[in-house]
Amino acid sequence: MLCHDFIKKIKNREIDIASHTEKIIDECKEINKEYNYFNTISAELALEQAKEIKKQLKNKDSKIKNKKLLGVAVSVKDSICVKNVETTAGSKILRGYKPLFDAFAIQKVKEEGGIIIGKTSQDEFGFGGFSANVGIGFKIPKNPFDIERSCGGSSGGAAGLSQKLDNHIALGESTGGSIAEPASFCGVYGLCPTYGRVSRNGLIDFSNSMDKIGPMGKTIDDVALMMDVIAGYDKNDSTSLNVKKENFESFLNKPIKGMKIGIIKEAFAEGVDREVEKNVYNGIYELEEEGAKTEEISLELPIKYGIATYYMIATSEASTNLAKLCGMRYGATEKLENSFNEYFTKVRSSNFGDEAKRRIILGTFARMSGFRDAFYLKAAKVRTLMINEYKKAFKKFDALASPTVPILPPKFSEIKKLTPLQHYLTDVMTVSPNVAGLPHINIPVGFEKNLPIGMLLIADHLQEGKLIQLGSAIEKGK
Ligand code: GLN
Repeated sequence: MLCHDFIKKIKNREIDIASHTEKIIDECKEINKEYNYFNTISAELALEQAKEIKKQLKNKDSKIKNKKLLGVAVSVKDSICVKNVETTAGSKILRGYKPLFDAFAIQKVKEEGGIIIGKTSQDEFGFGGFSANVGIGFKIPKNPFDIERSCGGSSGGAAGLSQKLDNHIALGESTGGSIAEPASFCGVYGLCPTYGRVSRNGLIDFSNSMDKIGPMGKTIDDVALMMDVIAGYDKNDSTSLNVKKENFESFLNKPIKGMKIGIIKEAFAEGVDREVEKNVYNGIYELEEEGAKTEEISLELPIKYGIATYYMIATSEASTNLAKLCGMRYGATEKLENSFNEYFTKVRSSNFGDEAKRRIILGTFARMSGFRDAFYLKAAKVRTLMINEYKKAFKKFDALASPTVPILPPKFSEIKKLTPLQHYLTDVMTVSPNVAGLPHINIPVGFEKNLPIGMLLIADHLQEGKLIQLGSAIEKGK
C-alpha cells in the first residue's frame, strides 16, 4: 500500500494507529534478529507518538487533518540526531550519546505526524559502500534478498528495512553515494537531494561540503512525499538553500514526453557487469517508450577523476570532524590517568574502527602544510571543473543515466578480500554527482540471479522534481 493510502486509513480511523504501531515495532524486532537493520529500535518514542495521534484523532483535533505523514513509520539513519534516542553514527566512540535536540529533518517528520521507529545501521560515520565497516561491537546489516550478501552502504540498514517493511519511509544520508548505492542493492528508491536542499542541522558530520539527508522507500510516491516534508530552508544551517519550496508530489505521474536523457558513455565501459548493463538499458528503453529522447554523452572528468577527487575531499573533511571525538562525555570507558595526550590516544585507538583510522590518516596527510596545495586544494579545483562539465551537459539534457553500482551485491566473503582501493572503486558512479552537489536517484530496474539492479539518474541542481517525474514513469511502466 502506498503511504498516501495508508495515511487516509489512519485519518479515517480504519486502522488503529496505536495497535498498528505496536505491530510494526514487533515486526521490526523480528526483522532485526535476522537482518540487523537497527542499531536502536525506539519503541518507547514510537508508541508515545502513536498514542498522542490516537488521542488527537479521537478528539477530532482540526490540526491532524493536514498532517502529511500521519502514522507512517519513519526509520532514521544512526548519524541523524533524534532527541533522547541513542545516536552513534555507527561508532563505538559515540555509544551512549543521546542528543538533547532533534535534527531539522526529524523536527519536520514529527510535526507532520511521522512515527520514529528507530536508528538504522550503517558504516561507521558513513565510511563505506557495503555497510561492512560498522563500528566496533555493531552488527552488519544483511541483504534482504540474500543474507550472505551486502545491503550496500553506508545507509545499509535504511535500504534493507525499506525493502522489508511496509508503510515505512527511511531517512538516509549520502556523502558519496550512500543513499543511491544501498537503495540499488536492496531494490528500493533512494533520492539524494541537491546539497543544501535539506538542512544538515543535527546530522553528525562526515564531510561537511558533501553531506546530505534524503529519503528512501519502496515506491517513488513515498520518496516524493518525504521530500515534501524534509526539504526547506533552515537558518541554523549556513549551507541551507533559501529557495522556493517545491511541491515534489506534483511531479508524480507527470508525462515525460520530450524529456532528454543523456546516457553517460564512460559509465558503461569495461568493469561494468554485463547483467547490470542490460537491466539499466531496459530502464532506459522504458523511458524511451514513455516518450523521452535519449542520446549518448561523453563525460570524461566524473568517471576518470571522481574517485580521487571525492576521497581527497571526503577524508580531509572527515579527519577534521573526527578530531573533536575524545571520549570525555560518552563512548569511552578508558580512565583518564597520566596526560591528556596519552588518554586521547588510548581512547581513539580503541574506539575507532579500522576504516575511520585509515581516513583520519589519509585526510590528515592531505591537509598537512606542504601537501595541502598538491592534494586538498587541487581536489577542490577539480571539483569546480567537474561541476562545469555537468552544467554543460544539463544545457542539453534533463537527466543523465548510468548504472548506480557497476556490480551486483557482493557476498561478505568477497568483500573481505577487497583492498581499500578496490572498495573505494565501487563508488565510481555515485561519487561525482555527490562531489558536484547534484541531486540523483536510484530507480530499481530489474533483477538478475534474484538480486536487484538499479539505474542512477542525475539532474541539475534543484531539479529533484525531474528525477521524481522520471522515476514515476518507470514505476508506472512496470
Ligand atoms: N562509499 C562512500 C565512502 O565510503 C560514500 C559514503 C557516504 O556517502 N556516506 O565514503
